[in-house]
Amino acid sequence: MTTSASVPAGPEDAITDRSVIDRLVTANGTYADAFTDPGMDARPVLQVAVVACMDARLDLHAALGLRLGDCHTLRNAGGVVTDDVIRSLAISQRALGTRRVVLIHHTNCGMQTITEDFRHDLEMEVGQRPSWAVEAFKDADQDVRQSMQRVRTSPFLPHTDDVRGFVFDVRTGRLREIDPE
Ligand SMILES: [Zn+2]
Repeated sequence: MTTSASVPAGPEDAITDRSVIDRLVTANGTYADAFTDPGMDARPVLQVAVVACMDARLDLHAALGLRLGDCHTLRNAGGVVTDDVIRSLAISQRALGTRRVVLIHHTNCGMQTITEDFRHDLEMEVGQRPSWAVEAFKDADQDVRQSMQRVRTSPFLPHTDDVRGFVFDVRTGRLREIDPE
């Protein structure tokens, strides 16, 4: 099987038992033991929503100096502004008081290594065409611009003035701002 839709083989494949999730659950026990209810309400303190790639190398809270309760965090493959991200932003702004949006893509994104063929390959493999677009991109800067544009032109969002986009460098940890034009 060599389609781009198939799962790449790698050393990670050895991790197939329940031990990883057990580890997470154990860690949660330790977290909960030390946890005290901060008594916050659900509205983000900084009134900001961050849309970012799901990439494991991007620790959003650490990279942006965010603390518990500060922001809404929306993550997906690529940090792309899909209909579902617009759905979450609409709820974030209209029901939970956020007024600004930060968009973050990053260097060496997996979305730059696949193409829309992924969708076709998937259909060939499983006999069903996904309803979603892959939203692959070659140029992260350009995709950030497109994402900013999608947020700014959405009729569902009341707050579209303070929207800024960045590319995070996974090697330096630094954000580079993208000019919207
Ligand atoms: Zn990525």
